[in-house]
Amino acid sequence: MSETSPPLVYDAIIIGAGFSGLCLAIRLQETGSTNFVVMEKSDGVGGVWRHNTYPGAACDIPSVLYSFSFERNPEWTRKYPPQEEIRTYLEDCVVRHGLEECLRFGTEVTSASYDESEGTWKVETADGSQFRARVVVSGVGQLDRPFLPEVPGLDSFSGPVFHSARWDHEFDARGRRIAVIGNGASAVQFVPVLAGEAGSLRVFQRSPNWIMRKRDRVFSAAYWDRRRRFPILRRAERFLTYWLLEARFPVFARGGPLSRLFERYLRRHMGRRVAPSQREVLIPDYPAGCKRILLSGDYLKALERENVSLEADGVVRIEGNRLVGGSGDSFEADAIIFATGFQTTAFLASLRVEGRDGRVLSEVWEEGAHAHLGIAVAGFPNFFLLYGPNTNLGHNSVIVMIESQVRFILEAIGRLTGSSPAKAIEVRSDAMARFDEEMRRHASGTVWTRGCRNWYTTRSGRLVNNWPLPSWRYVWRTRRLRERDFCIEDC
Ligand code: NAP
Repeated sequence: MSETSPPLVYDAIIIGAGFSGLCLAIRLQETGSTNFVVMEKSDGVGGVWRHNTYPGAACDIPSVLYSFSFERNPEWTRKYPPQEEIRTYLEDCVVRHGLEECLRFGTEVTSASYDESEGTWKVETADGSQFRARVVVSGVGQLDRPFLPEVPGLDSFSGPVFHSARWDHEFDARGRRIAVIGNGASAVQFVPVLAGEAGSLRVFQRSPNWIMRKRDRVFSAAYWDRRRRFPILRRAERFLTYWLLEARFPVFARGGPLSRLFERYLRRHMGRRVAPSQREVLIPDYPAGCKRILLSGDYLKALERENVSLEADGVVRIEGNRLVGGSGDSFEADAIIFATGFQTTAFLASLRVEGRDGRVLSEVWEEGAHAHLGIAVAGFPNFFLLYGPNTNLGHNSVIVMIESQVRFILEAIGRLTGSSPAKAIEVRSDAMARFDEEMRRHASGTVWTRGCRNWYTTRSGRLVNNWPLPSWRYVWRTRRLRERDFCIEDC
C-alpha cells in the first residue's frame, strides 16, 4: 500500500489509533491481511493517552492489566502507569508489529455511507478524499471530545483558558492564580501537582467524589528481574489482578449490601483525611460507585494547603477575571482550567454514518446510543464499534472488553473477506432489541442509575456507557458471532 495509490476497496477502514484501533490493526495483520488502513485525526497513536498530558496524568488500573494480553509491556516503572509510559507502550506496539504502513495520521474521517448494491462503505475525510472499504470499524471510543460547559461571562475572561484533556504546556503555573472547574478523575491527579506551583488555586466543585487511597509503588529492579527469570509470575499476576478487580463488581456497580459496607469504609477513610468542617462538602451523600470511585493519596491533602481553596457550589458566572461561585464568594484568577470531562453519551457525534436505506446513526441513537454487544447496529451492515455503547467498566480494565470486541469483529471480517466472502453481515433488529432490553433490565439494578449525575447515563436516565454485568460475562458473550443474531448476506 502506498500513500499515492490506495487500493480500490480496502478490506477494512479502522477509525482511530487508540488502544482499540491499534488492537484490531495488530490482530487483523496477524491474520495475514494487509489491505486495511487506520485513519487517525491527530499526529500519532495513543488516543486519550496521547491527548491527556496534564501534570500527574496516570491510569487508575494497575499496569499489569493495562497492556494487551498478547503484548505485555516489560517497561512499566510503577504499579499505576503514568500517561507517558502508556503512550510509549502503544508507540512501541506499532514498531514491534510493523504497523507504520497502515497508519494515516492527520486524517479525520467525517462521514461513512453504505452502498447496499456493492456491499461497501464510502468513507470521506476532512480534506475531501474518498475511500471505499468492505468494513468500517470505529475505534473512536467514549472519551474523545472534551466537554466545556457554557459558563456565563467566560468571554470576558482575558487570561489563558484550557481543558485538562488539551493541556497548554506553554502555561507557566508558578505564582499564578488558577481556577480549576471540576474535581473528577483528571482534576484529582493534576490539582496536587499544580497546588505546589500556583500562587493560589481554587477548585470549583459541583459535587464531591468518593475517593480511596491509591496504593501506588515503583517497581524495583528485583521485581523485573524475578519476572524475567520466571515469566509465569507475570501471567499469574495478571490473572490474579483481573479476578481481584472483577471481585469489585458487586461493590462498585451493584449498589447492594456490599456497596453500602464499602461506602461506610470510604466514609470513615475520607472522614479521617478531611477536616471536620469540610466533611459535609467533601464526602458525598450519593451511593459509592454512582460516579467513578477515584484513587488518590494526595488530592484531599492538597485541598488543605494554604494556597488552595474550595468552592463547593460550582461556578455560576465569570465577570472579567473574577469567577463567582454558587456560594456567592468570588475568586480572581489569571487562568482557568476546565477539568469538566468529556461528551460521553453522544457517541460518534463528530461523524455522519449513513447505513442501509438512508438510516443515519445519530438519528437512530437520538434517544441514546445502543448497539448489540456494544459492537453492531441494525441497519448498518459491515459496520462495527470498539469501546462502543455499554462497554465501559467502572471496576476493571477496559482492555479486556476491547480484546473481546476485536476477536468478535475479526470473525465478522473473516466472513466478509475470506475465500467465499459474504456480501454483508448485519445484526438482526430482534436480536438487538433483546440485547437492549437486557441492558435496561440490568442497568436498573446498578448503582449508576440511582442518586447521582454521572457520565454514564443520558439526561433521560438511560445507561449508555457502562456494561452493567461482570466483565467476564462480556468476554463469554462475545467469544463467537452467533449466526442466529445476524443476517449474513441479505437482510
Ligand atoms: P469527570 O471525572 O467526568 O469529571 C468532570 C468534572 O467536571 C466533575 O467534577 C463534574 O462535576 C464537573 N463538571 C462538569 N460540568 C460542570 C459544570 N457545568 N460546572 C462545574 N463542574 C462541572 O471527568 P474527567 O476527570 O476528565 O474524567 C473522565 C473519565 O476519564 C473518568 O471517569 C475516567 O473514566 C477517565 N479517566 C481515567 C483516568 C484513569 O486514571 N484511568 C484518569 C483520568 C480520567 P459533577 O461531578 O457534579 O458532574
